[in-house]
Amino acid sequence: MSRPSLPGQIVGLALVLALVFGVVLWASILSIRGAMDRQAEAESLVLMKGRFDALQDQVSLIASDYHNWTDVFEAAKALDYAELYSNYGITANRADVFQYAQMFDGPFDAPVAWFTDSPRAPQDGFLSPETLDTLRRRVPELDYQSRETFDFFEVHSGRIVMFSASWLLPEDTFILPEQVEDGLAIAVIGKILSDRQLEQVEEQLGVADLEAHDTLEQAGAVALPLRNASGNPVAFLSWTPPAPGTEMFERMRPIMIGATLAFALFASWTARELLRRAAELARKEAEATILARTDSLTQLPNRLALREHLRSFTDAPLIRFAALCLDVDRFKQINDLAGHTGGDAYLREVADRIGVLADKHTFVARHGGSTFFVIISGNGDLSPRIASKCATLARLCDTNVTVGGHAFEISISKGLAFSEPREQAYEEVLLRADRAMYLARSGHMQEVLQYDAEMQAGDAFDNAVEKAMRSALVSGSEFVLHYQPIVSGFGAGQVVRFEALARWNSHSLGRISPADFVRIAESSGLIVPLGKLLLERACDDLVLNPGTSISLNVSPVQLMTPGFIETLMTEVKRHHLDSRRIEIEVTEGVAILDNKSAAGILHELRSRGFSIALDDFGTGFSSVGYLAGMPFNVLKIDRSFVSGEAAGARTMTMVKSMIALAHSLDMAVVAEGIETEDEASIFRNFGCEMLQGYYFGRPKPLSEISTYAQLEFDFEPS
Ligand code: C2E
Ligand code: MG
Ligand code: MG
Repeated sequence: MSRPSLPGQIVGLALVLALVFGVVLWASILSIRGAMDRQAEAESLVLMKGRFDALQDQVSLIASDYHNWTDVFEAAKALDYAELYSNYGITANRADVFQYAQMFDGPFDAPVAWFTDSPRAPQDGFLSPETLDTLRRRVPELDYQSRETFDFFEVHSGRIVMFSASWLLPEDTFILPEQVEDGLAIAVIGKILSDRQLEQVEEQLGVADLEAHDTLEQAGAVALPLRNASGNPVAFLSWTPPAPGTEMFERMRPIMIGATLAFALFASWTARELLRRAAELARKEAEATILARTDSLTQLPNRLALREHLRSFTDAPLIRFAALCLDVDRFKQINDLAGHTGGDAYLREVADRIGVLADKHTFVARHGGSTFFVIISGNGDLSPRIASKCATLARLCDTNVTVGGHAFEISISKGLAFSEPREQAYEEVLLRADRAMYLARSGHMQEVLQYDAEMQAGDAFDNAVEKAMRSALVSGSEFVLHYQPIVSGFGAGQVVRFEALARWNSHSLGRISPADFVRIAESSGLIVPLGKLLLERACDDLVLNPGTSISLNVSPVQLMTPGFIETLMTEVKRHHLDSRRIEIEVTEGVAILDNKSAAGILHELRSRGFSIALDDFGTGFSSVGYLAGMPFNVLKIDRSFVSGEAAGARTMTMVKSMIALAHSLDMAVVAEGIETEDEASIFRNFGCEMLQGYYFGRPKPLSEISTYAQLEFDFEPS
């Protein structure tokens, strides 16, 4: 069974709390009601006992009045029954003050009695011999001087009778019972407990249903026993005591029920509302989670989703995966041609097609820009699956994408790398696939290029170089500039300027070719501090060699770094140099030729007096159209068109048209890499303004270039 969600648990808890609260409230009220009722019941018992004591006191008072009466005492002593009747018996007979009277012992041989409607002559006693015996024991114990009586109850003819017994004594006469010759008579009067009296008690105590019962069972829980002379109950009084708790409860009940219902309604409404909100929150959270992992342009999973997907493999070491890095070729140009909206539409269409590859084992994500990753995972041999995915991709990208009226081909460079069990982090696999893709692109390959041992070795080398460069840049002492002369193609062939070329003799790695360390510096961002260091060196050297001009290689990354011109100007001014002594060489490439802000920077440099040369012309992407808009003073034809094998007829035709193009755009031409006299004369004949190469001189340290300044190269007249 699954555990309920956190909001569900909270709501459940709230409901349980509400329920507990309700139960506790009701239980407390019911318990208060019980306590109040019980207290009232106990109080009513005490009061009832008090009331009956008072009733008996009334009888006792009458008894003490009648039994301390000299006339009656004398009549009894004389056994004058007529006198006894007229003073005493008649009261019982008439039944107005009491209804029963009996005398025994003392002068009487046997008990004599009168009662309601009895004849004048005394009757036999109605009290049982046991009662008489009890009275014979108890009455002598009474304090007769204070007219104490012995009181008890009996039932006669179905009625409860309250009896009071005492010695029969003369009024106000102080005599001791022992002084009486025949002994004292004991007199008893009885008064029936009337219904009226019961009603009065009910009224006075605020109770109901006051009744007498024969047994305790009939009477019930609340009962007052009425006892005979021997102390045994002869009847039990029962009544309904007041119930203030119940009364209060009855009064409160509708309100309580209403409040409970309202509370229950409120609680259930609150619970429902809480649940609804929690569900909404959970939904929004889920939406946000999806949104944060979706690329807004293509709706494919984004970089975050990709990282999370790859991280899931960390917990499943048996699973292998392959990362296929896909990057759309020349996307920048498409963007420029179709505009940003068109570029976006193109990218969306390409993403849709790549997205078709996704399935249970294949994850597709946009990594940013025009780069996509396809992650293929499983625990068997992944190659067949990758091959099939690549075939599908080729088919999907076979048809052009039309945006803004232009039809564009889809050309994608593809790099592949495999995860190696427990060997590298997934980030590394992505980097490797990216690296392979990059090499595939530089080689204009249509096929998938798989990251291999050679690339791995190259990467290891690059890493070592980058590490060494970082520490070498701290002091900077390992870097120097060598200078190679650029000579005039006319006349005596004098040195026009020197190209400054960086040299690095690393303490740890030895000599490293500039082609390598410049590339690594560019990819690692170290080109910026390195470029600044070399700029300072070049300016120092210019100060030491007045009258010379130099050509300074500036990497596109360096050129585009914000603040480049400021740094350059600061150094030039600090060294009090004329900016015309410095030519900036930039290599051709998309980053320069395809970039409006690069053009802006170059124009700015021109306006500040620097000369600008386009280096390695012919090796990159540049087309004639781009050249026209750029402020180059000089075009340097790459060595590959100049030296050695290059001298074929076709190449020469190309070179001639390059030169013609440069001239038509008012650019001077430098032929790079002249190694032989033949090559020198060919390019001189082609009308190249300047020549550069080992034939004229290799790059040398500053201390040695003064020899070059004196050099002159006399050419054969053409
Ligand atoms: P680059 O700017 O085209 O420089 C010319 C390269 O051709 C230099 O190689 C030079 O030594 C070589 N070279 C000159 N004449 C001949 C020749 O007759 N035959 C042959 N085989 N080679 C010749 P280097 O010094 O190895 O530099 C390679 C590249 O490294 C440079 O090409 C340039 O792109 C880059 N580089 C060098 N120094 C710097 C620098 O200070 N900053 C930047 N950003 N890049 C630099
Ligand atoms: Mg150069
Ligand atoms: Mg060059």
